[in-house]
Formats: sequence, structure tokens, C-alpha cells
Amino acid sequence: MFRTLRLVTCASLLTLCGFATAASAADLKVVASFSIIADLAKNVGGDRVKITSLVGPDGDAHVYEPRPADAASLEKANVVLVNGLQFEGFMSRLIEASGTKAPVVEVSKGIEPLKAEEEEHRHAHGDHGHEGHHHHGEFDPHAWQSIPNAEIYVKNIADAFCAADKAGCPTYTENSKTYLAKLAALQTEVKATIASIPEGKRTVITSHDAFGYFQHEYGLKFIAPEGISTEAEASAADVAKLIDQVREDKASAIFVENITNPRLVEQIARETGLKVGGTLYSDALSGSDGPAPTYIDMFRYNVNTIKNAILGS
Ligand SMILES: [Zn+2]
Repeated sequence: MFRTLRLVTCASLLTLCGFATAASAADLKVVASFSIIADLAKNVGGDRVKITSLVGPDGDAHVYEPRPADAASLEKANVVLVNGLQFEGFMSRLIEASGTKAPVVEVSKGIEPLKAEEEEHRHAHGDHGHEGHHHHGEFDPHAWQSIPNAEIYVKNIADAFCAADKAGCPTYTENSKTYLAKLAALQTEVKATIASIPEGKRTVITSHDAFGYFQHEYGLKFIAPEGISTEAEASAADVAKLIDQVREDKASAIFVENITNPRLVEQIARETGLKVGGTLYSDALSGSDGPAPTYIDMFRYNVNTIKNAILGS
């Protein structure tokens, strides 16, 4: 129907033909589970794709509760992009409920997953772990906090788009090449920034264990009162243990996260005498008016925030 209409328009109004084609190029409907994947997908897809992010800016995918509109987006989607590694607890039920026929692509496929740290001490007091900490999987899902992993995400996204839209494949391939070059430059920049931080000052605190891959890739040590999911709140004993650890490890800085309540981190800051060094963007981008509206902005902002808090500049 639309294609016929476009042909007619092109035949009768040659000058508008180019515009009509460009406007209707956004044909591939993509649903991304959260904002970081949505941004990577936008860089690969350009204006051939229309992307909907289920969990928006500053949203917490660990505890997200889907809305009816999310099922509707999924139903209409041509491609669904998820992180996988059991990051999106809400996703499998939602996909089932939506009845979507779209392929669901785990963009973390092919990364080297890090094991989720043992959290036995969290179960020693209270609920025996029936709730909360057992919701996450065997592996740490926050793989995007390493740029080489994001490069794998981008390749997986390009493959998914090529499979769903063969005519667009040259564009997706070209776009991802351009974007991968930017990520390679970012990796060099991040490593240089980290290198400027003295080795004895590389321990920092955040609210949940979202930076395991960052730690693994860049050699900063992150400690947190909450585990790899934000589902269960840290207990008083968790906090006491963390404060002991902070004193032992001589943490240099403490940060709140954009997706979590700052209260706990503020309490730890008071009790350890550390000053909150700013906000790290862990599991979501900022809105377009914030400091981290894209993946590249997010990474640069996090690294500079850490550096400035530690070096006091
Ligand atoms: Zn997280």
C-alpha cells in the first residue's frame, strides 16, 4: 500500500521523491530493553531504524515493571535487542505476553562473562536468600561497562539488523565501522585517564556491583554495599562490613548512581568521612539534557568523574 503510494509520488513529483524515500527509510522497528542498548543500536541503524527503549533514561532494569505500552511495542517490533545474562528479569514474561514474532537477540553473546561474586555473607542474617539475591544469574550482566564488550554488542546488533533487513545491510555495516572507530578512540582515551590515577588510589565505592567489567578491563577496584542486582536492599550488616572494608582498602572516593537511591551511599560517606564524588551512570544513560545521553558520553563522564574525585580537581 505505502510502496505503491511512494511509486506514484516519485513518478509524478520527481523532486519530492528523494524526501519520500528518506522519510520512509525508518522501516525497521527495533525494541531495545534499556537505554544503553538503544543508543548502540541507533549508531548502527541510523535513520533506517526506529528504536523504542523499554527502560528509559535513569531507569533501573533490575526492578523494572513493564507497562501495557511495552507489550504493544514488542508486538510491532521487527527486532528485539536484550542484554541477556539475566539482566532484564522482566523481559521473558513480557515477550511471551506480547506474542511478538520478532527475533530476540542477546547482544552480550560472545563476550567473556564474569562470574557473579559469591554473596554468601548476605544470607547469613535474615531471609536465607529466598528473595532478592537469588534472582540474578550465575554471571554478572553489566558487560557494557567495558568498551571491548560494547564493540561485541555493536557487531551483534549489526548482524541482527542485517538478518532482518538485507537491503540495509551495507548501511549497517558502514555505520558500525564508523562507530567502532569511535569506540576504539574512546578506549585509548579511557586508558590514558585511568593511567593518570596513582595505583594506590584506585579503590572506589558505588551503590551496587555494576562495575565488575570496568574493574576487570581498566584496573580500578569497585566495592559496593549491594550486589549485582538492586532487587534486595543491603542490610545493616552489609553496610557495617563495607565500612570495615573501606577502612582496610583505603577507598579514595565514593559515588552515587543515577539509577539508585543515594541514601545508602550518603550514609556510608558520612560514616567513613568520604565526600560523595558525584554520580556514576551504571545501568542507564541520562536524559538528553544530562551529562550522559549516549554510551560514549556516559563512559567519558564516568571516568572523568572518578578521576576528578580521586585527584581532587
Ligand atoms: Zn545493575
